[in-house]
Parts: sequence; C-alpha cells; structure tokens
Amino acid sequence: MNERTNDDWLGLFREREALLEGHFLLTSGLHSPRYLQCARVLMDPALATRLGAQLASALRPLLGGTSPAAVVAPALGGVLVAHEVARAFSCLGLFTERQDGAMTLRRGFRLDEGAPVVVVEDVITTGGSTKEVVSAVQAKGARVLAVGSLVDRSGGTADVGVPRASLLTLEVPTYEAAACPLCAAGSRPVKPGSRAAVP
Ligand SMILES: [Zn+2]
Repeated sequence: MNERTNDDWLGLFREREALLEGHFLLTSGLHSPRYLQCARVLMDPALATRLGAQLASALRPLLGGTSPAAVVAPALGGVLVAHEVARAFSCLGLFTERQDGAMTLRRGFRLDEGAPVVVVEDVITTGGSTKEVVSAVQAKGARVLAVGSLVDRSGGTADVGVPRASLLTLEVPTYEAAACPLCAAGSRPVKPGSRAAVP
C-alpha cells in the first residue's frame, strides 16, 4: 500500500472542504483560522473505506501482531470511522453513546473479557472523550491496544494512555475574540458554511 504523508492528507481534506482555512467563528464563540468537518470526507463511502484502511494500516504496527475483536468509537462523529476501520480488520465496529452523562456501550453491544479492542475517533482534540471510551471498554473487561483518529488536532500532544496513530496531524489554534490576531489584522470572522461576515 502506498504511504501517504501528512501533506497528502492535508491536501485531500482541503480538496473535500473537510478543512476550511480563513477566519471562523466557532460554535464555542472562539475564533480560529481553521475549521474541520470530517463528515465532508466520510460522506463519500469509497473514500471512507480508503481512510479506514489507511488508519488500520497505521494502527497495525501498534498491535503487536494481535487482531482486534472490535473497533469502538464514540457516537456520532466516530461511528463511520469505527465501521470502516472494522471493515479493514474484518472485525466488529461498535460505538458508545452518552447515557446519563457517561459513555456507554448500548444496543446489545458486548465485549468478551480480555477481548483486544481498538478505539477510534474522527478527531482527537484533547483526548478527553477518547479516554472516556477507553474507560468504558476497559470497564467491560476488554483490553484497549491502541487509539486511532483520522485527525489529531492537538499537534501530537494528546495523551490517551495507550499507543496512538493518526492520519493527519494538524494544529487548530483558537482565540478569544478580544485576543484574535485575525481580528487585530482587520478581518471579520465568518460562521463555517456561510460566506457572509458575522455582523
Ligand atoms: Zn477573529
């Protein structure tokens, strides 16, 4: 399989408008020069399958020769990623959902005691929600061998307690409006998906 570099993935995400660059007002109220929307690459089924295969290839060296019994991701963003990585490993693709605030395997999803598991995400930011999925899997007695994400927007710093792999590593700085260098340079932020400046 031909190896793709970080720049190749960056180009693909830009081309599919999964990564927008400019000056954005995020739903958090913060400003950022980058906006990431992984659904824009996953909406193409053939591309989603390729991304899953490439992420599985990046994860394989971290598994010590073990084949995972399941790939688990948090809903909603990780569902398609788990499905496609599971396709590449020929195993089950499961997802967790929040129930009363806690990440939980529902819908009759089960993991055997000691089962080897890979946890995946679309995007890792701080690793916080990923760690919750890891804990939910471990609470079932299964073993989390590694974590994978399509995008690591922590710039490589997120620590999830197990080995980790990503296709695209990216810094996505965010700023309070008052401290935004883009605003200071005279530009106005736009809401992602709209062309008009925020009034
Ligand atoms: Zn700004």
